[in-house]
Amino acid sequence: MYQQELNAACDYAHSFLYQGAVATYIPQLSLADPGALGACIALPTGEHFCCGDCETRFTMQSISKLVSLILALQTSGYSKVFSKVGMEPTGDPFNSIIKLETMSAKPSNPMINAGAIVISSLIDSPTPFEDMLEFTKKLTMDEGVALDEKVYLSEKNAGMRNRAMAYFMMSEGIIEGDAESYLDTYFKMCSVGVTARGLANLGLVLANDGVDPHTGERLAEDWMVRIVKTFMVTCGLYDSSGEFAVKVGIPSKSGVGGGIVSSVSDLMGIGTYAPALDKKGNSVGGVRVLEYLSQNLNLHMFAKR
Ligand code: GLN
Repeated sequence: MYQQELNAACDYAHSFLYQGAVATYIPQLSLADPGALGACIALPTGEHFCCGDCETRFTMQSISKLVSLILALQTSGYSKVFSKVGMEPTGDPFNSIIKLETMSAKPSNPMINAGAIVISSLIDSPTPFEDMLEFTKKLTMDEGVALDEKVYLSEKNAGMRNRAMAYFMMSEGIIEGDAESYLDTYFKMCSVGVTARGLANLGLVLANDGVDPHTGERLAEDWMVRIVKTFMVTCGLYDSSGEFAVKVGIPSKSGVGGGIVSSVSDLMGIGTYAPALDKKGNSVGGVRVLEYLSQNLNLHMFAKR
């Protein structure tokens, strides 16, 4: 049943890909194939259902914000983290600067770029990126996870807007220490290569409240996972999060590399890859796959099961 529905979801999504375009503001991302589409469902039993470009490696981009938030909560604790970053959705684009000056230098939430840069300053470790990489391998159950050096250098070169935000927040005392090293950690984390299958596994761990269902190992405390999934609902698809919550209703996080990770509590993880993006930076194909699956498998978080 899952395989059939997934195939149908991919067929449905394919017909919308032409409406999107690959990201170009990070030059290396513009090399992606706009016609690519893959999706994977991971179940607690260890079964996987895949269609299309399920094993293609692409960079996590904003999906890394989930992993870095957990690491910051683990190493700096709840109070410190939320003294530096808020909990409110913005309704603004993910790379918007405007509220930092007009509202508060404390970023509205950890899922926008400004918030994630602060979060990278709150991973209290001498090796924040290496920790993040190891943690991502575990969460995605994928030893092949690695830094994509080309995307990283491309991001670093093109990251003027992120740099501007970091230095502004430093001038306001929100970021303390070495802004360049936090930016470097952030750029690297965004440039970690994953697959749709790996994202499905990550979604599954979140669906299972932080425990890898195959090994029984707890990878994150359940209260942290609850926070992460709440942000996925309220801020996971940038300034499309409201519409996505109404139409799909599955806690999800997108990235401009074309990935979306989704978590259906107690049931499954879903990973999608389709690098053609809509105007707000969300994967056109991924959103359509999820819309189809939500309707046909009754996955909306408020659906009666
Ligand atoms: N690395 C990207 C950036 O900083 C991440 C943004 C995203 O995926 N939305 O702009």
